[in-house]
Amino acid sequence: MIDGTFAVAGAAGPIAFFSNQRLESLSHAYLFSGPAGVGKKTFALRFAQSLLCVTPKTTLLGYCGTCSGCTRVVAGVHPDLYVVEGQVKIGDRESGGGFHEEEASARDIVRQLSMHSYAGGKRIVILGDADFTREAANALLKFFEEPPGNVLLLVTSSTPGRLLATIRSRLVEVIFARLTEAEIVALLAAAGTEPDEAARAARIAGGSIARALEALDPETGALRDAAAEWFLAAVRGAEADASWATRPALEDGLTTIKTLARDWLALTVAGDGAPLLARDRAGDLRALPPRDPAALVRTLASIGDAERIARTNVTPALVAEFVRMALAPGR
Ligand SMILES: [Zn+2]
Repeated sequence: MIDGTFAVAGAAGPIAFFSNQRLESLSHAYLFSGPAGVGKKTFALRFAQSLLCVTPKTTLLGYCGTCSGCTRVVAGVHPDLYVVEGQVKIGDRESGGGFHEEEASARDIVRQLSMHSYAGGKRIVILGDADFTREAANALLKFFEEPPGNVLLLVTSSTPGRLLATIRSRLVEVIFARLTEAEIVALLAAAGTEPDEAARAARIAGGSIARALEALDPETGALRDAAAEWFLAAVRGAEADASWATRPALEDGLTTIKTLARDWLALTVAGDGAPLLARDRAGDLRALPPRDPAALVRTLASIGDAERIARTNVTPALVAEFVRMALAPGR
């Protein structure tokens, strides 16, 4: 028996949750919810590795890192682990819907869930950032009604509210919190980032390691600055250069803008002591003119609508214009 390692940053809550469980007491389906880029999918993969590791261990979470199970998981070739990376769009195109692509069909998923375990243990299906159509949800409900005993389904989502209630209610939800700045600095330092750079990236990462890594990329940093400048002009009703709003940069730009709007609301409601996600923009945000909190909540909802519209074929320029109107003074 070994203790095993479990190399996941942060995630104190989920680690405590699973550490108290035994293999037999696991549910057959979990929803890992929490902000984007805090390590939900990494946790799911390490969890799967823990269950597929063949070395006897003292804890549920933990793996040896060297056995045939571990080696296959790390190489991405374990026959009992099915992972759909990136955003998963499951099911047929909805009528008039906005899905750009389908990366897995409900039939693929159900087939994977019903296969027998190759190694005789658990069979694990990981769906990253899943977005189910109604038809796909109905197909999956059959799985939930009669789950095969050996299957573990791990769904991750940063927008669990978008999941159909029929699906969400059948998943045991495990909540992932934002990482602390210290955790992000430690992760970046371990990856060889210079201390000054790591501290700067952690400050603007809003608790997301994915955003910290992006912040280290000069090109993304420039795009984010452009979106932030556009936001600051738009809320004052000034002319703004919307050249950041291109198809590849749209989603990230909207995230930047939503973060700033959320911080603005926090400052409005809680005053200058409010904890900010965009700490590098604290000075700009504190200098913003006050606005009615109810109006700011409506603005945030409109930015959420824009994020949905951005996933359709509406042009980025139109999406930016929609957001500009939501941010403009006098709303
Ligand atoms: Zn192992």
